[in-house]
Amino acid sequence: MTFYHPSLYVEFPSLKPYVERMQSLPGLKEYIDDPKHREANMLISAPGPCKITDARNKYTDWENTNINSVGVQAEKDENGRFSLELIKKKAVSHDTYEFEFKHPNANQSHGVWPGGHYMIFVNGADGTEVSHPYSPVSTLDKLGSQTYVIKIYRPHKDFPGGGKFTQALEKVNVGESLQFKGPVGYIKYNGNGEFIWQGAALPRKSKIGILVGGTGVTPGISIAAASIFGNDGCDVKMLDFNKTKDDILCQDTIDGLKSKNSKKFEYKHVLTRDPNWNGLKGRLSAEMIKDFFGASWEPEDHVFFFICGPAAFDAHCKKVLSDMGYVKNNNFNNN
Ligand SMILES: Cc1cc2nc3c(=O)[nH]c(=O)nc-3n(C[C@H](O)[C@H](O)[C@H](O)COP(=O)(O)OP(=O)(O)OC[C@H]3O[C@@H](n4cnc5c(N)ncnc54)[C@H](O)[C@@H]3O)c2cc1C
Repeated sequence: MTFYHPSLYVEFPSLKPYVERMQSLPGLKEYIDDPKHREANMLISAPGPCKITDARNKYTDWENTNINSVGVQAEKDENGRFSLELIKKKAVSHDTYEFEFKHPNANQSHGVWPGGHYMIFVNGADGTEVSHPYSPVSTLDKLGSQTYVIKIYRPHKDFPGGGKFTQALEKVNVGESLQFKGPVGYIKYNGNGEFIWQGAALPRKSKIGILVGGTGVTPGISIAAASIFGNDGCDVKMLDFNKTKDDILCQDTIDGLKSKNSKKFEYKHVLTRDPNWNGLKGRLSAEMIKDFFGASWEPEDHVFFFICGPAAFDAHCKKVLSDMGYVKNNNFNNN
């Protein structure tokens, strides 16, 4: 039983009766499967009566869907926070872990819209609370839990104290719970080229550039996945900046996107401090944009770059794009 969803083909076993009713609508399946109607992906509002929205009218009504407006269904405190239990903690590189948190409801996805995130809270080493945004890497078809890939900032000569949040997180054990809030985020990708920036829809896009640095790859992947799994026809190209080859995150997920649609998704890793790297090197430049994205990515309304990385990375990307004539909040985001 498959729903067409902007992030993935999502299955909701509890909605079987609605799906059966929907599938019995004369001609609907043929309509959806016809490549001409690829744009008309379907939206299912759960858990209420099944609602189908044609993409060309309003692709996704996140606010009114169970999946997104409430995120994870959990008991919330007066500040809107809820607790999730850590059920798996696995080192995936020298400084990065996968953290999996259990949902109270086994049938629920993480409910974060593409481009969004949760705020997660921990108590730092000095006992004061710290929180940061994190975007789950598990996709919306994963029910019952959500997974994050989080890099730990250990003490370093340039940062003798290391990262406050991530060092505290590294000490959290399986079986302990952390507080979450959200989902939140200024930018939402609704699929079919529709980006919402602070509540307002941007002109529809057909080309989505993703410029991400380090852990910024996680929200970038959620947008790419929404377009590729939703089969929404957009061209998606990503430049993923890291210091060295060992710092590259989520390669399996990126490979999965590439294998899903190699024509609509392209990516390159760019390394800034790896002398042995034969691929793209250095910081983002106008030349890199022109070479990788190509002539059809001129600053026009249908082109959008999603930027996410450390503050200096974001500022640099925005400057390069602005100098090339791209316009903030139309051709690129400004968070
Ligand atoms: C939308 C969004 C989604 C995000 N999703 C993720 C995610 O999925 N996974 C993830 O890991 N992060 C993610 N981040 C980044 C995350 O929010 C934090 O900024 C990051 O985890 C650092 O937290 P910290 O408290 O440990 O570091 P802080 O104490 O806040 O340190 C600040 C900065 O100092 C620098 N720094 C500190 N110590 C070191 C060191 N040893 N070496 C090099 N630099 C250092 C880093 O640039 C660090 O970001 C996301 C950010 C955004 C905006």
